Amino acid sequence: MTSAVETRGVRRVYRGRAALDGVDLEVPIGETIGILGRNGAGKTTLVETIAGLRKPTSGSVRVLGLDPVRDRARVRSILGVQLQDALLHFSLTVAENMRLHRSFHRHGADPDELIHQLGLDDVRQTRTENLSGGQRQRLSVGAALVGRPRVVILDELTTGLDPDGRRGIWRVIEDLRAEGVTILLVSHSMDEVERLCERLIVLDSGRIVAEGSPEDVRRHAGAEDLEEAFLTLSAQAREAEERA
Ligand code: ATP
Repeated sequence: MTSAVETRGVRRVYRGRAALDGVDLEVPIGETIGILGRNGAGKTTLVETIAGLRKPTSGSVRVLGLDPVRDRARVRSILGVQLQDALLHFSLTVAENMRLHRSFHRHGADPDELIHQLGLDDVRQTRTENLSGGQRQRLSVGAALVGRPRVVILDELTTGLDPDGRRGIWRVIEDLRAEGVTILLVSHSMDEVERLCERLIVLDSGRIVAEGSPEDVRRHAGAEDLEEAFLTLSAQAREAEERA
């Protein structure tokens, strides 16, 4: 059976330095996978390469069997992407932005229902440029989901959200999981990945340095909890870097 996402030996080099250094990743359909790593580890480069927004220097990427660069139009219709620099139109209102993103897809969710689920009812007629950071973040999640994608990439899903907003968005993601949507979640929040993800990968210097269920990653690092595991793995990676 085709995987939702498959990368083979993906490298991406910037000015002689590898941001991704041979990433092999297979994400089965319906899995929610968390992508962790220190600042600069290569997380955004990886998900943007999977989304077809960056071309790998070498290696291959497939999304539901399609090449995201060559089959861009088809991949766009099945993939929802919420990135740190969201593709929102600042002069449009919340409702207009959601309708615009809905119009890119033949089938999709009801924009008003999603606005409601994301807690944006009070600002639906507000221009995007006048939203708070957290409201803009919620809208970028909405824009990624309104086309009812089969695979979703979420980069720092709840950064800047208040506790209520975090819970609300987590519920939206749990509903997607229940529908069998495949989710790639880049996060610095250990409670978030622990709650939402079946499997994690930890990237460091463009390589996968740990992989498994949250429990596997914790045990692999010999740590009490996931946060300690993350700190241990980061320290090990730093030491390896200094030795090299
Ligand atoms: P963060 O947690 O800070 O968001 P990240 O894990 O997402 O970090 P990336 O943004 O993927 O990290 O960056 C990985 C490395 O690649 C960094 O060293 C960064 O400086 C470098 N890099 C990323 N994009 C470019 C670019 N367009 N040109 C040059 N270098 C880049």
